[in-house]
Amino acid sequence: MTNHDSALPAPRLGEPYLLTPGPLTTSYPVKSAMLRDWGSWDGDFRAMTVEMRTRLLAMLGQGADDFDCVPMQGSGTFSVEAMLGSFIPRDGKALVLANGAYGQRTAETLAYLGRDHVVLDKGDYLPPRGDEVAQILADDPEITHVVAIHCETSSGILNPVEEISQVTYAAGRKLLIDSMSAFGALPLEVARIRYEALVSSANKCIEGVPGFGFVIARKSELEAAKGNSTSISLDVHAQWATMNKTGQWRFTPPTHVVAAFLEALRAHEAEGGVEGRGARYIRNRDVMVAGLRDLGFETLLKDRWLSPIIVTFFCPADPKFIFDDFYELMKAKGFIIYPGKLTVVDSFRIGCIGQMDEHVMRQVIAAAKDTLDEMGVKSATPPALALKERAKLAA
Ligand SMILES: *Cc1c(COP(=O)(O)O)cnc(C)c1O
Repeated sequence: MTNHDSALPAPRLGEPYLLTPGPLTTSYPVKSAMLRDWGSWDGDFRAMTVEMRTRLLAMLGQGADDFDCVPMQGSGTFSVEAMLGSFIPRDGKALVLANGAYGQRTAETLAYLGRDHVVLDKGDYLPPRGDEVAQILADDPEITHVVAIHCETSSGILNPVEEISQVTYAAGRKLLIDSMSAFGALPLEVARIRYEALVSSANKCIEGVPGFGFVIARKSELEAAKGNSTSISLDVHAQWATMNKTGQWRFTPPTHVVAAFLEALRAHEAEGGVEGRGARYIRNRDVMVAGLRDLGFETLLKDRWLSPIIVTFFCPADPKFIFDDFYELMKAKGFIIYPGKLTVVDSFRIGCIGQMDEHVMRQVIAAAKDTLDEMGVKSATPPALALKERAKLAA
């Protein structure tokens, strides 16, 4: 059913596809798994928590034994805040690598937490590079941690986390990764890239429904995190210690969401794990980008930086193109797209993740073509200003 060579079943009759980076389109089995109630203290649910943590850890590959997985209630941001507040000591200092909304949010979170930090702000879509990170670390010996965003979902840029990891550890510092929108589809094998902790959530590449996130961290960091957090509900060390002792979450867990997530994890394995999931998303992206380029649309990013998670396109220059109309007409055809977040030029985004394959992507292209015709837009070519912006991008 999840073979990427064949069409996946429609999510449900009449339900539009969510071409958005989470919540996303989930399978019918994932939705159905929520039709049962579970007691959070009961052995059956405790076993589900164990299976979930074990399956997530296995995605790190060889060396995963040194890590543990700590689920946290709430949306992804709650887990990011938990990771930052638990692993960065109160007298620590972070370097935040920002190139979009999620990097900015990380900096804002550190301000709330009262943790000293500096920001390397690359604007809307330029990648933070190893040499500039190395320079900042060399100039500021007080920095203890680097915080990187794996896929910055606001533009869809795939940041060079391996390069960033190398310079971080060469300088004797520690790396924390927000891999929210990438984990499960893009490899973060601990044998290949070093980091202390990462964070992701239920409703991204594993294709579950929203309701919790999880922190995956080196056990030695989890031990050392005791007493760092200033929040009871977001204390990763406390959640970890209690869960390992009692098998239970400290406070009411989202039981139905966990049941759905387990179903999603089994489907993830059946599809070929991280590699299989990533291959389907890459195919989704390649088919979608090629088809929309044929219509005249252009991507914000050059191919090298395009993630297989979400892609930003410039809005066409044609004055007949009105994004709100485009959105509604696409929705009427069964596809919910995502507005853009760029400051300089108008844009929109299309997600590649969720229960969709290349056949669905071809339907998206056909729907976009019909929609342009209905609107009387002759060409989807972006304005000259957009292409000038794009030229500024690093090669
Ligand atoms: C989705 C996402 C988050 C978390 O967002 P929530 O709305 O709190 O779930 C954080 N970082 C990135 C990169 C994301 O894509």
